[in-house]
Amino acid sequence: MAGLQHLAAGKVRDMYAGPDGHLLVVASDRVSAYDVVLPTPIPDKGRVLTALSVWWFDRLADLVPHHLVSAADPAVPAEWRGRAMLVRRLEMLPVECVARGYLAGSGVPAYRATGTVSGVPLPPGLTDGSRLPEPVFTPTTKAPVGAHDEPLSFPEVEALVGPGRAGELRDLTLAVYRRAADLAAGRGILLADTKLEFGLDAAGTLTLGDEVLTPDSSRWWPADRWRPGGAQPSYDKQFVRDWLAANWDRHGDPPELPDRIVEATRARYVEAYERITGLSFSDWPGAA
Ligand code: ATP
Ligand code: MG
Repeated sequence: MAGLQHLAAGKVRDMYAGPDGHLLVVASDRVSAYDVVLPTPIPDKGRVLTALSVWWFDRLADLVPHHLVSAADPAVPAEWRGRAMLVRRLEMLPVECVARGYLAGSGVPAYRATGTVSGVPLPPGLTDGSRLPEPVFTPTTKAPVGAHDEPLSFPEVEALVGPGRAGELRDLTLAVYRRAADLAAGRGILLADTKLEFGLDAAGTLTLGDEVLTPDSSRWWPADRWRPGGAQPSYDKQFVRDWLAANWDRHGDPPELPDRIVEATRARYVEAYERITGLSFSDWPGAA
């Protein structure tokens, strides 16, 4: 495994050339917020992202083909154990496919300014945290590192990937959202929103890629603490975002996170995994 060719570093993942033309995706403990990577890692975060993605791919496989080939390669170096996914290399589509069942995050200012999110009209009277009448597809651009993802209307997605493909992306994104939200609801967790990335495999088949339904790509809220009207307690990095919002003016380099934020965030990621899957994180390869 040593000496693998390093192909790319994203904000969170590193990509290597794996065997058989596959990609080896290694999830680090880096945490990004407000589109920047913070200087402080969250121990085991990459393992939680990988563990959850693997679990979800298995539960979505009847809805859409996914890129995961295997996650359990005993040959990977110890520090990569439980973090690495061998995946089929995809040609990624230039759209971040977002489904929202609740109003939160960037949807809130967009709704307040326009009554819409990504061009989808929403009913009046909603507030931060409101449940939407039905889940909506609110895609964004896939901005390069350092830039912000911008909302895309459905016609803009059609222009980017073609009308037929745009419809497939919308339908699959909403189907994945519904499947995951239903499953989580049974475990006392609300899936407020989620972001998926799709690509085309070598045969041109539309395939679900990247990570799925993790605390980084999704907002997970404890159902019993849901109170529309402001930011919700969550199993995602909203916790880090909230601390940064109070302690950083978003100019210059972001500050180190204090130990208590690191510990609390690690605990939330682990709790998200355990509550969603019903499994014990300590059984996952490499987990502390
Ligand atoms: P981006 O904002 O473009 O997603 P990122 O900083 O979030 O970048 P990471 O999530 O750290 O990047 O790295 C994952 C990168 O790999 C993403 O650009 C994603 O689109 C891409 N990717 C995911 N799955 C595949 C795949 N099967 N084949 C090729 N590229 C993939
Ligand atoms: Mg990403």
